[in-house]
Amino acid sequence: MKIGVLALQGDVSEHIKMIELAGANAVPVKTIENIKKIDGLIIPGGESTTIGKLIKNYKLEVIIKERINKGMPVYGTCTGMILLAKKIQRFEQFTFDILDITVVRNAFGRQVDSMEIDLDVKGFDSKFHAIFIRGPVAINLGPDVEVLSSIPEGAVFLRQNNILVSSFHPELGNDIRIHRYFLDMIKK
Ligand code: GLN
Repeated sequence: MKIGVLALQGDVSEHIKMIELAGANAVPVKTIENIKKIDGLIIPGGESTTIGKLIKNYKLEVIIKERINKGMPVYGTCTGMILLAKKIQRFEQFTFDILDITVVRNAFGRQVDSMEIDLDVKGFDSKFHAIFIRGPVAINLGPDVEVLSSIPEGAVFLRQNNILVSSFHPELGNDIRIHRYFLDMIKK
């Protein structure tokens, strides 16, 4: 099994390290040929307007969307969650238009750069220590979207079939349960 981490901007090496700790191979990807050869894709955090532009410059939007539509598991963290969403509140920018949520960007106010919350996560037997960096939340969830964790502002960890997203950054901690959950989506 080979996981690709979209390597246009953001915390790529941290995701590769977590996937390897969880027991699979991970490689940086940024070409159509790379993306044809992977079994799952991680879209990391960064800045969603910039990564959206780079996806278009590298002509990756069609291949990524096609592979997701055909069932390839994808995990988007933070910016990745924004780029997969169907709607973004108050912003006009590129998305794959595939995950049935509305995303509220920078949902915790511009003055809050980062925060850490111990979250209850569906299926986990203890709390997950989550690091948020100017993260989004999801509102107006469609019927196929399962909430795995939420806070009063909105949902922060969600799944729609083969699409997994989190507002927070598990790759910056040392708890591999979320990366392992993603790998389990590929094995099944
Ligand atoms: N605030 C960023 C955005 O809107 C996301 C931040 C992150 O990925 N850590 O794209």
